[in-house]
Amino acid sequence: MDKILIIDDEEDIRIALKRVLSREGYQIELSESASDAVKRIETGETFSLVISDILMSGMSGIDFTKFIAEKNINLPVILITGNPNLSSAEAAIRYHAYEYISKPVDRTQLLSVVKRALEVKNQKDSDLEKLLLSEKLEKALRTQNLDLNRQNAAILNATSDAVITINHKLVIVSANKASFDMFRFHSPLDLIGQNVRLLFTENKMQKYMNQVSSVLSQEPNKSTLQLSDVTLQRSDSTTFLADIAICSYSLDGDSYYTGVIRDVTQKKLMVEQLIHSERRAFLSVVAASIGHEINNSLTAIQGFVEMASRENADLMLKDRALKVTLNQTEKLRALTSNLLQLGKSVKSNHEKTEILNLNGEITAVLQVFKETAKLKYCQIKRDEANETIPFRMNSDQFALLLSNILLNAADATNNIGTIEIKAYLQNHKAHLIITDDGEGMSPETLEKIYEPYFTTKELGKGTGLGMFVVKQIVDNFEIDLQIDSNPGKGSKFHFIFPEVSES
Ligand code: ADP
Ligand code: MG
Repeated sequence: MDKILIIDDEEDIRIALKRVLSREGYQIELSESASDAVKRIETGETFSLVISDILMSGMSGIDFTKFIAEKNINLPVILITGNPNLSSAEAAIRYHAYEYISKPVDRTQLLSVVKRALEVKNQKDSDLEKLLLSEKLEKALRTQNLDLNRQNAAILNATSDAVITINHKLVIVSANKASFDMFRFHSPLDLIGQNVRLLFTENKMQKYMNQVSSVLSQEPNKSTLQLSDVTLQRSDSTTFLADIAICSYSLDGDSYYTGVIRDVTQKKLMVEQLIHSERRAFLSVVAASIGHEINNSLTAIQGFVEMASRENADLMLKDRALKVTLNQTEKLRALTSNLLQLGKSVKSNHEKTEILNLNGEITAVLQVFKETAKLKYCQIKRDEANETIPFRMNSDQFALLLSNILLNAADATNNIGTIEIKAYLQNHKAHLIITDDGEGMSPETLEKIYEPYFTTKELGKGTGLGMFVVKQIVDNFEIDLQIDSNPGKGSKFHFIFPEVSES
C-alpha cells in the first residue's frame, strides 16, 4: 500500500488532509515539521509520497524538497502554499518538487495529483529495478563467460584428443597441446598458420576434403560430421588411424571448422586383443567338451582292437573292429580339421575370403558341435540342405560366428531345446536364420548384447564375449544381423550376407 507523509505545522490541516486521503485507501503518516520528516527519512523510514506545506516555522517545505533532491531519493514532493509567489514557485521547480498547489486545496485536484505522482514514482522504481537486474544479469553473464573460457581452456589442455580449428582457407588457426604431441610437432608455430593438408597423406587428402565439404554443404544445418578410420600423417611422415568429429560454425561472418581428433591405434589394438582372448576362452570351452568326444572315440577303438587281437577272435569280430575304427577315425579327423580351422587369427581370416556354399559351411560347423555336450540333447532342425547357396566369406570366421550363436541358443534352452536353422537365397543374397525356443531376451538385454563382457549367465558359464565377436565379424563382412527376441518366447537371429560379386 502507498504510504504518504503529510508535513504541516497546523494540526487542522494535517487532520483534514489525512481524512481526505485515507478515505481513498492510502496509508497516512504525519509530521508537524520538516525537520521531523528529515529525521524519519534519515533513520530509514520510507514513503511513497510527501505532501508538505511550504511556509512553516523552522525548516521550510522548499528546504525539505532540496534535501530530497540532494539525497537523490525517488520520492515525489507535492508542495502546498497559502500565498503563491514567483520565488517559491521557482524554488519548487529548481528542486524538482512534483507539483505546486495553492490553498485552499481542491479535493479532486489533490487526489488526481497524488494519483499521478504515485504512478510516476512507481514507474521510476520499476525502471530502476529493471536496470539493476539487467546490470546484475550482465555481470553474471560476464562471469559465466569467463568461467566457460577457463573451463574450455582446461578441457583443451587436459584432453588427449587433438582439437584443431581451421578457417575457410583450410589454414589452422588454433590447436591444443595434444595436437603437437599427436602429430609430433615441437611448437605451436609448426602447426598454427599452416595449411591443414600437412596432416593428411598426399593421396587421401582430397578424398576426405570432398567428403567433408559435400556433407557440410548438403546439410548446412547439420553442423557436425563424424569420420572414422581416417589416415593421418605425423611430422615425421609416419601415419596413424583416427576418428574425427568435425563441427562447423561461423564467427563474425567467417566460417570455421573444429575437428576433435582421436588416435584409435590403441583402441584397435585392444579390440584385436579382446578377440584373441575371446578366442582363447572359446577354444578352452570347445576343447573341454570335444576332449570328451575324442575320449569316447578312442575308448571304442581301443576296446574293439583289443578284442580283435585276441587269439580266439573270429573274423566277424575283426571285421566289426575295423569298421568301428574306421568310423571313429573319420569322426576324429573331421573334428580335428575343423578345430584347426578355428584356431587361426582374425586378421588372416579376413584377408582370405572366398565364395563358399552356406549349406556346406553350416554342415561343417554342425559336424563339430552337434555331438558336443552342450548341443548333444538339443533337437537341431534343418530344412533342405542340398541347395548351393553362394556367399562370400571366410570359413573359419563363419564357423566362429555360427558356433557362438548355436552355443548361446543351447544355453538359452538349458541344452535340451529345439534349434532351427534355415538358409536360403533371396534377391541374390544369402540368408541365414537361427531360431531357438529358449528363455529369450528382455529389451534391456538386447540393448547390451554386443557389449564386451556383458553376460546374464552365472559365473564360470559366460564370458560375455561371444556376441561381441559376432558383432565384429558381422561388421567386418558387412553382414546385416537382425535379432528378434522376447522373454519366454525364444530368439531369432537373422543374418543377411552381402550379394556375391565376382571380384
Ligand atoms: P555369454 O554367452 O558368454 O553370456 P554372449 O556375448 O555370447 O556372452 O551373450 C551375451 C548375452 O546375450 C548372454 O549372456 C545372454 O543373456 C544373451 N543371449 C545371447 N544369445 C541368446 C539367446 N539365443 N537366447 C537368450 N539370450 C541370449
Ligand atoms: Mg555366448
